[in-house]
Amino acid sequence: MAVNTAAYYTIKQQLVQAGAILVAVSKTKPAEDILALYDAGQRDFGENYVQELVDKQAQLPGDIRWHFIGHLQSNKVKYIVPFVHLIHGVDSLKLLQEINKQAKKIDRVINCLLQVHIAQEETKFGFDEQELLGIDPAALRQLPNVAVIGLMGMASFTADMHKVRTEFKLLKTLYDKFAVLTAGICNLSVLSMGMSSDYSIAAEEGSTMVRIGSLLFGAREYNK
Ligand SMILES: *Cc1c(COP(=O)(O)O)cnc(C)c1O
Repeated sequence: MAVNTAAYYTIKQQLVQAGAILVAVSKTKPAEDILALYDAGQRDFGENYVQELVDKQAQLPGDIRWHFIGHLQSNKVKYIVPFVHLIHGVDSLKLLQEINKQAKKIDRVINCLLQVHIAQEETKFGFDEQELLGIDPAALRQLPNVAVIGLMGMASFTADMHKVRTEFKLLKTLYDKFAVLTAGICNLSVLSMGMSSDYSIAAEEGSTMVRIGSLLFGAREYNK
């Protein structure tokens, strides 16, 4: 399916007004689709799989900001650390430590978001509320090659938009609490929430970054 540039311009304008950044989620889509959106002006792209991201990064323009939005395994951190712009889905301190370790080797500081579990579905990764607010800020201070700059979350996969809004409100509340907790250590600026089906609600509830795939690139041909 061709890239929907008309939808791109509409969404982009809406998000500029809302003050949110657009990450175009290109997982499973070919490099030429990414280039089509790149030519329309898009620079932030999100991928879910390490090998796919590494392959695409190697063949696409160097000024693309690559976002890793999938579930990251510790043993694969080293492959994306040389170039990744922002890792959205950090779901444990152990993973953060591994990112710090690999980033230190190449003298980079990697921007990361902690993933928070706000949906009721059991398949979603992330910290729950207690775990997030229980993080010892001093532990973050000990990771100089990692910059925790915000939170990321996914609402329930449901047509009940009231429920989705409630979950986004919760994430915004947690973001504000986490900012107080880590004041002086983390400089939070990113609240990554909202996808194709719910990004307008997310923007209304304080999202500063939305991750949109299917509205831009068409439906994906698999069920992930
Ligand atoms: C695939 C994916 C998206 C984009 O989903 P769409 O519904 O196609 O917009 C956003 N965030 C994450 C974490 C994803 O895995």
